[in-house]
Amino acid sequence: MGSAARGPAGKDRNRPAAPSRGSRFRAIFPGMEIYDHPTWRMACQQFDLVAERLDIPDCDRDRMKYPKRSMTVAIPVHTDDGCTRVFTGHRVQHHLALGPTKGGLRYHPEVALGEVAALAMWMSWKCALAGLPYGGAKGGVACDPRTLSATELERLTRRYTQEMIPFIGPQVDIMAPDMGTNEQVMAWMMDTYSVHMGYSVPSIVTGKPVRIGGSLGRREATGRGVAYLVNRASDTIGLSHENATACIQGYGNVGSVAALSLARHGVKIIAVSDVSGGVFNARGLDLWKLNAHVAEKKTVLGFPEGDSLTNEQLLETPCDILVPAALERQITAANAGRIRCRILAEAANGPVTPEADAILAERLEIFLIPDVLCNAGGVIVSYFEWVQDLQSFFWSEAEVTDKLFRILEQAFVQMMALVKKQKISTRLAALSLGIQRVHEARKLRGLFP
Ligand code: GLU
Repeated sequence: MGSAARGPAGKDRNRPAAPSRGSRFRAIFPGMEIYDHPTWRMACQQFDLVAERLDIPDCDRDRMKYPKRSMTVAIPVHTDDGCTRVFTGHRVQHHLALGPTKGGLRYHPEVALGEVAALAMWMSWKCALAGLPYGGAKGGVACDPRTLSATELERLTRRYTQEMIPFIGPQVDIMAPDMGTNEQVMAWMMDTYSVHMGYSVPSIVTGKPVRIGGSLGRREATGRGVAYLVNRASDTIGLSHENATACIQGYGNVGSVAALSLARHGVKIIAVSDVSGGVFNARGLDLWKLNAHVAEKKTVLGFPEGDSLTNEQLLETPCDILVPAALERQITAANAGRIRCRILAEAANGPVTPEADAILAERLEIFLIPDVLCNAGGVIVSYFEWVQDLQSFFWSEAEVTDKLFRILEQAFVQMMALVKKQKISTRLAALSLGIQRVHEARKLRGLFP
């Protein structure tokens, strides 16, 4: 991005002056202010740190950081009361060097272009770390899905898909569920795209129902991956699961499956929460009863076998395994010093800010499983789903899960090798592996024309 305007030495006359402390960290590239957002700044800070470490030439950095393209669309929707409401939707495709772009679609009231761009960038490093042939992407619609009826949600989804048709395709950009979206939303997307094409195109989205070309094990993939990596981290630090306790912030698809998978490995889940608050029981929550309560009440709040606690209190509850599985920027400079856990498993994207990272780096008792690895299970099985759809040849759940664990194992081992070799944090190691692979692909392909 922006490289055409630059001189041979990679210097750009239009570039705002670098910060005076003489570092090579970047100010926002002119014209790219549209992405400015706290989460975008956070992703850029992480990228700049790694680019500095890897000594990526200045002239390549902006090209790697800024999205290749982004689309913002107005989505008019007939509401059930006969009015029309217009929603704003985004799709950001970060880079195209390794194949089509891949990433989820989020429905949340606070969705903003810069946030979506940050999430797309993280998808790029995540896919590269797992060795998937994708660039990163992310989409979002600023809406509160809990206040929309099923028919409104369907009309919103179909219209968003229709608006995005010129920019997506099984070899171009493939969407998947993220916060606030699910298998049904993917089914409507697939149907809208297929009707447009005139034939069924299951490979246009992943995370769809198994009946229409979804993969066995996709729904559980992210949570299962989190539990697999927590097991590996426990082995590494010598934590036995026999008396281990876990707190989980966010009890959606990822958090609830992670809880169940950890419980199957003997971990006691002592606290869980959702957007309305949480519930705590020092003796361990009965997940079967809790899930029945959530199915009925749509929230963990009010679960009779526990005391209520806030999301902030949950993060500071002493436990062995802390799993933030909700929004970005939950652990900040303000609370990082008060976290009491041995393993911090980032099931959410970007739950820890760079300022909190600096504090956690001093706290050697905490083993961090960084987001780009910890929640990669979802996109890995999405990749399997895409491959199965393209071949119209479907695998058993055992095959899917076995292949998922093999990829996670390899990425974990590679990350730990770099941690040991270079004496760096797990986050720096995981990001370095992902970013370096994209950089190498870019160098090999060169610049056209
Ligand atoms: N939304 C998920 C993520 O952030 C999954 C993306 C996908 O499966 O493409 O990784």
